[in-house]
Amino acid sequence: MKQYELLINGRYVPAQSGETFTVINPATGEPVAACAQAGVSDTQAALQAAHDAFPAWSRTSGRSRSEIMHVAAALFRSRIGELSRLLTAEQGKPLKDSNKELQFSADVIDYYAEEARRNFGMHFEGDGVPTHSFTMRQPIGVVAAITPWNFPVDLLSWKVGPALAVGCTMVIKPPSEAPLAVSEFIRCFIEAGLPSGVLNLVMGPGRPVGSEMVTNPLSRKIAFTGSTTTGLWIAQEAAKQLKPATLELGGSAPFVVFKDADLDLAVSQALRRAFSHAGQICISVNRIFLHESISKEFTDKFTAAARKLKVANGLEFPDADLGPMISESGRQTVREHVSDAVAKGARVLAGGHEPQGVEFSKGYFYLPTVLTNVTPDMRVMQEETFGPVAPIATFKTVDEGIDMANNSPYGLAAYVFTNDLNTAMYAAERIQSGGVGININDITDIRAPFGGMKQSGMGRELGQQGLDSYAEWKHVRVLMKKPE
Ligand code: NDP
Repeated sequence: MKQYELLINGRYVPAQSGETFTVINPATGEPVAACAQAGVSDTQAALQAAHDAFPAWSRTSGRSRSEIMHVAAALFRSRIGELSRLLTAEQGKPLKDSNKELQFSADVIDYYAEEARRNFGMHFEGDGVPTHSFTMRQPIGVVAAITPWNFPVDLLSWKVGPALAVGCTMVIKPPSEAPLAVSEFIRCFIEAGLPSGVLNLVMGPGRPVGSEMVTNPLSRKIAFTGSTTTGLWIAQEAAKQLKPATLELGGSAPFVVFKDADLDLAVSQALRRAFSHAGQICISVNRIFLHESISKEFTDKFTAAARKLKVANGLEFPDADLGPMISESGRQTVREHVSDAVAKGARVLAGGHEPQGVEFSKGYFYLPTVLTNVTPDMRVMQEETFGPVAPIATFKTVDEGIDMANNSPYGLAAYVFTNDLNTAMYAAERIQSGGVGININDITDIRAPFGGMKQSGMGRELGQQGLDSYAEWKHVRVLMKKPE
């Protein structure tokens, strides 16, 4: 079985303890590879390496940083075929979705490679006083990047791209379930000529590896994507040192269909965003709200389509609609949420259990599930199920639909389907979420800020805001005097 090592100060090394852990294919239960399992001392060594590399890297020209990043992205692109298979093996998503994730990750690095050359501030003259002011965007220091298993490479690229572009160095902790494609992604930067210590990789458990990265004073910025529970703990620890943290946390995206919507479009867009990646996306459709006049037609079409989705091992069926869930504990949460809904009066129109058959016996599969008669007190409506479950409720007025969408502790993504511009804008203004898709099921664009309101987090990634997350703005003010 292939062994993956830690990357500390430009060298691939085993853990100081010699310990390893095994990465499992969630579709088959079979081992994929073994990884060195870092502990606190490995993490401290990685932080020290990033700290030592910072002065030189932060003063490297934007052009040089850009060139290395472009070479790394090109190397990575040349390996996407092989790495998609690795990502599917460790994470479970069908091959076509792994391919898409890795293509997007390369795009993000290329985008921020360009931004590295435009990393400048502004100039202005004094407001009634003879001064010149200019601003510098300076790198914040060592970044501790901690990421989840659902998009392990993509969500890391959102952090590595802007951090390197601005001139930060990093210690990266990938998720324990899916650290392998991440390791290969980082290898591309090393092969592209990135100086030692600029990127360091420590694989190992959230506690103590991730927690050491958060609390150690050598890290000057936390970039975290993961659960709200972990995010809240990180926010509290970071606050003790006034350490900035960008937190991309959970979501419970509403999908609101008004009476004048294009229903076929709405059905197909809801289907993909509710069930792809087995519903394990922070911007998955978690709650569907339908105007009562179109409720029956939408529900019939949606249910029929959900029943036809292909659930399979994504290595054997690259174009499957969904693969397994990541773990038995994830699947158990889905079972509990569905049981809770049924006990409180929900009707199961599709799915509601695991698929039958020997090909599913060792993986964590669950069928696409459609629920109606749902009420706000059900766990599927209040908590993040993070599985292939789509609960449907109805509303009578535009305001009622918006209020139902906002009845959640989360506020990351929302989707509005209508052909009326006024309704679309009215809803987009009032829905409490970091992003709103109008007649589209994706709010992700490299150039646009991405992040959450309420319990979905704080700070923004991607776009210009993503660069600012890794920078300190400095104002330099010069008094102009007549020379003697
Ligand atoms: P977790 O919060 O459990 O884990 C995320 C990462 O944090 C993992 O690398 C984990 O390590 C690490 N970690 C766990 N505990 C600590 C700690 N005390 N200190 C530092 N690091 C720690 O989340 P999940 O892996 O369960 O990911 C799913 C969650 O992520 C969902 O709630 C989902 O909504 C959210 N998410 C949010 C996104 C967004 O952009 N807003 C995007 C994708 C997912 P280890 O793997 O070793 O446990």
